[in-house]
Amino acid sequence: MKKILISGAGIAGTATAYWLHRHGFAPTVVERAPAIRPGGYKVDVRGAALKVVERMGLLDAIRARSTDMRLATYYDGTGRGLATMDADLFGGRLGDDVEIMRGELNELLYDLTRDDVDYLFGDSITSVSEDGLVTFERSEPRRFDLVVGADGLHSATRRLAFGEESRFVHDLGCHISICTVPNHLGLDREEAVHAAPGRTANVYGTARDANARALFIWSSPPLSYDHRDTARQKELLAEAMAGMGWEVPRLLAAVRESADFYFDSVSQVRMESWSRGRVVLAGDAAHCASPASGQGTSLALVGAYVLAGELAEGGGAEGYEAEMRPFAAANQALGPANLKGMVIGSRAALWTQLTMLRLLPRLPGAERMISRVTGPIHRAANAITLKDYQPRRRRQPAD
Ligand SMILES: Cc1cc2nc3c(=O)[nH]c(=O)nc-3n(C[C@H](O)[C@H](O)[C@H](O)COP(=O)(O)OP(=O)(O)OC[C@H]3O[C@@H](n4cnc5c(N)ncnc54)[C@H](O)[C@@H]3O)c2cc1C
Repeated sequence: MKKILISGAGIAGTATAYWLHRHGFAPTVVERAPAIRPGGYKVDVRGAALKVVERMGLLDAIRARSTDMRLATYYDGTGRGLATMDADLFGGRLGDDVEIMRGELNELLYDLTRDDVDYLFGDSITSVSEDGLVTFERSEPRRFDLVVGADGLHSATRRLAFGEESRFVHDLGCHISICTVPNHLGLDREEAVHAAPGRTANVYGTARDANARALFIWSSPPLSYDHRDTARQKELLAEAMAGMGWEVPRLLAAVRESADFYFDSVSQVRMESWSRGRVVLAGDAAHCASPASGQGTSLALVGAYVLAGELAEGGGAEGYEAEMRPFAAANQALGPANLKGMVIGSRAALWTQLTMLRLLPRLPGAERMISRVTGPIHRAANAITLKDYQPRRRRQPAD
């Protein structure tokens, strides 16, 4: 049986482990964090990814954990409501698309695989030799037939096999930060947004969580900081949001106390090839589309299915790339376009957007205008025809 090491137990890593096991491989997952990482914002499972989670037997469990968001409302700096819209329209969801908390999805995937897959937490790979010998920071060296780098935007596996990330990671000119905060606004399945030129703050509460999540996104040149230095990242966030009105000062005070904190550039990964020697990349490590695309999770789920299927049925890394590349490219194209609507550069553009949102429900041809927003997302999310790979066995999720 082929032994495969996966670096990273995020969405791509756990989903790849699931499909590799089902195709009869022996996967081991090494994750740098001491446990599955909680936190993150709500993420969408759309289009082809819905078929993948259905084939995993996870669709009902995901639907049961849907955020069930109702509304999104824009506020001005004084707290006056400016425009309210349906949450599905705000999130670009159509039909069966479902939204779930990233951390809950990661837990579901881990629960589905933990009995069949060897997980090594609190460790990281330090080298991969041509003949498959892998060394770790803590564990003894082991030999694998293949290493899957599913360790995210700043993939260590990619650095080991392909070189420095500056060659592949393209900054889209914004930073993003997300963390859990108390739901002091009493938001009930509702998202509240305050946008100023070049920076936007969101906070929302779901039915499934007593706390709320805050998201800040702002135009920014590349920032230099230590990726593990959360205190410095919180300072950078506070500097970026300084002087904003509405609830922003209160949210920033809550961020200072928050234990889970996500902070990164809004970036995409673009590479000519996703495999080299015994290493193949998956998820954000290979083709991060950026949080602005809203498609990182769906891409990771579909990529896991395709990678394992191609390895099992003889297509190998080449077959995987041939199937996945057009799909990844279609979804990456959403990132820069969506970002323009998330971080608005000028007062005039902001006024235009808010006026449009306020009037939209009453405008003739509103449906056509809405489909101009949701259509490209829906097309990209379905821009792959999934092959019918024939896995051997299936475990039911513990629900
Ligand atoms: C805590 C967290 C919060 C996030 N929040 C959001 C969000 O709110 N909105 C959004 O759009 N996207 C968010 N993302 C990114 C989103 O999860 C991904 O775009 C998407 O799900 C694809 O996932 P991935 O598994 O490829 O990468 P990731 O989700 O980034 O997972 C990579 C995994 O690899 C692990 N890892 C990193 N380096 C190493 C290493 N050297 N050795 C071993 N393991 C390593 C990480 O700890 C992580 O568990 C978040 C990611 C994380 C980890």
